[in-house]
Amino acid sequence: MKELREAIKTYGRGLGNDVVKVDMFLNHRIDTALLYRMGEEFAARFKEDRPTVILTVEASGIAMAVAAAHALGDLPVVFAKKGATVVQSPDVAQAKVYSFTHKRENIIRVDKRYLPIGSRVLIIDDFLADGQACQGMMALCAQLSCKVAGIGIAIEKGFMPGGKNLRAMGVHLESLAIVTGIEDGKILLADDD
Ligand code: 5GP
Repeated sequence: MKELREAIKTYGRGLGNDVVKVDMFLNHRIDTALLYRMGEEFAARFKEDRPTVILTVEASGIAMAVAAAHALGDLPVVFAKKGATVVQSPDVAQAKVYSFTHKRENIIRVDKRYLPIGSRVLIIDDFLADGQACQGMMALCAQLSCKVAGIGIAIEKGFMPGGKNLRAMGVHLESLAIVTGIEDGKILLADDD
């Protein structure tokens, strides 16, 4: 998506050789015009998959999930909560996710009432790196007998294995921008995504 690529080129910063900082427009300060355009772009790419609900994980995924949900006809958005709770509850589905940014394992969980059996779930997140967050959300869907209608990502780090693994599983994965590498703080982007 051209506008997102332009924003990454203008404001994005690379940390080390594998972290992309987009705090200026996506993760801390939000460029709302760009956010709503991203919502429309997700809707265009996934409307044929007929999602009935959007699932994301707190916190950075929520804004873009809401933008996409609105563009898809005001679908509900469910966000998995993060925390250390491992207390089993009959009302909650949970999965373990190793956090790329915090370098620790989180439990993500959703209340079963919010993803009814048979829901067609569109998973949305800001970044795709190793694919742990997406795999965790897919595990929640499987536990709750929901179908994963697709996975929409704002920024895929194409030099990490998450995208390749999800595509190999046959999931409909769409990334609005693909980072191919980081060199001296500069973010390298695929031209076409
Ligand atoms: P994964 O689970 O695919 O390894 O990583 C995805 C999750 O880690 C996303 O939910 C995102 O919050 C975070 N993440 C991964 N890589 C980056 C990055 O380069 N920059 C930022 N800001 N977050 C990232």
